[in-house]
Amino acid sequence: MELLYKSTRSDHAKVTASQAILKGLAEDGGLYLPEKIPTLNCSMEALSKMTYQEVAYEVMKLYLTDFTEEELKQCINSAYDEKFDTKEIVPIRKVNQTYYLELFHGATIAFKDMALSILPHLMTVSAKKNQVKNEIVILTATSGDTGKAALAGFADVEGTKIIVFYPKGGVSPIQEKQMVTQKGKNTYVVGIHGNFDDAQNGVKEIFGNQKLKEQMNQAGFQFSSANSINIGRLVPQIVYYVYSYAKLLAEGEIENGETIHVVVPTGNFGNILAAFFAKEMGVPIARLLCASNENKVLYDFFSTGSYNKNREFILTSSPSMDILISSNLERLIYKIAREDAKANQELMLSLKENGIYTITEEMKTQLKDFYGNYATEEETEKTIQQLYEKTGYVIDTHTAVAAAVYKKYQEETKDQKKTLVVSTASPYKFTRSVMNSIDKKYSNMEDFELVDELSRISHTAVPKAIEEIRNANVVHDRVCNANQMTEMVQEILGI
Ligand SMILES: *Cc1c(COP(=O)(O)O)cnc(C)c1O
Repeated sequence: MELLYKSTRSDHAKVTASQAILKGLAEDGGLYLPEKIPTLNCSMEALSKMTYQEVAYEVMKLYLTDFTEEELKQCINSAYDEKFDTKEIVPIRKVNQTYYLELFHGATIAFKDMALSILPHLMTVSAKKNQVKNEIVILTATSGDTGKAALAGFADVEGTKIIVFYPKGGVSPIQEKQMVTQKGKNTYVVGIHGNFDDAQNGVKEIFGNQKLKEQMNQAGFQFSSANSINIGRLVPQIVYYVYSYAKLLAEGEIENGETIHVVVPTGNFGNILAAFFAKEMGVPIARLLCASNENKVLYDFFSTGSYNKNREFILTSSPSMDILISSNLERLIYKIAREDAKANQELMLSLKENGIYTITEEMKTQLKDFYGNYATEEETEKTIQQLYEKTGYVIDTHTAVAAAVYKKYQEETKDQKKTLVVSTASPYKFTRSVMNSIDKKYSNMEDFELVDELSRISHTAVPKAIEEIRNANVVHDRVCNANQMTEMVQEILGI
């Protein structure tokens, strides 16, 4: 049976999964959602005997119904291969009676690899399926993490090119080095004189440039986007929640049917939304704990029913969660508005115009499985430090926000239910903040000295992703002004 996708902002114009992947955003500005969330048609018992790739197939085939078995398996096997430094793809570490789901064993040692290593393959298959003859050009503005994960995912994928713009001087030295050393004949990295917003606005302008679009089409190119609202990123993220439950069952950590909590460090609300989908599909998840850093707009939303982005933007040690507009929340809003596109559209309009919206009491009652809280910078540091002192396990700053929120939840509720804390980045990705949390004496050490020290104290090997950039050559040195981005794209594509 074919599953179609509709926009969160109108009821007409349904599209297939492959079309939704190609388009990214619906034409009315809404986000695509499946008409109905499918339920798992395979028992947990059966899933518990499967590999990650097999579970991925069982989950994704329910969503991507216009992909053939062969196409989907090909995508899965091209994504989840030796790029990951462990056969399990997403190992679970039990520390202090808590389960840490490590989503950072891919090419760029952060959780965005989970979706961005498969999206390029889903996209090229989707293009073929829809008779798209043009080469797909992915255009991304990045404040650091997404850019590298997208570059790694699309590198040398046939039929695609990827161009990443980042603010020169506005990302960490390690992040910059990761990008400018990126291999792959189809990858282009450009530093711009300006900040992240300038880069983001430039990309939006290029996407809306009709003249450029025609020019591209004539030369055999078309743009697409890899950002986190694409259902091609959401669907692969559901997989690891199904897999982790099955894995806990396989290892005798839980009984079949026993419910667990999940704690997710959240920015754009993509990862936790995937957990919500897994729950709706039938995974026995009790509560979804939404963890924010000091940009606690989601915590305020869950406690008051008002989403209010009118506030100061705070730079924290968990930069991938420094976000004031959580784009993927719109999908949840639409769901709790009982799929009333008009009601959702009004709320989103209010957000755009006034920076705030408030949901109804009836909608609020449907959020009872969500729990929101946040961690301050100090609490985040302390969490890293105490966990290390007690157990020797080192977590990154984003994961620490989740662990700190989980602790608050336990203290508040005395709830002892088994819990999965989602670990979204390797501590090697945020070495400086992590080491400073463990001991202030590290504050005057160099970046790579800190890497070696982290390896020593945590008894873990330095990940390949870090070793690679230690001595890698810079291969991208393009720089331009923010108002020259269009010309830069034309130059790169030779049009
Ligand atoms: C992107 C990111 C997050 C936030 O994920 P969302 O899906 O945007 O909520 C958390 N941690 C890390 C390390 C990330 O890169």
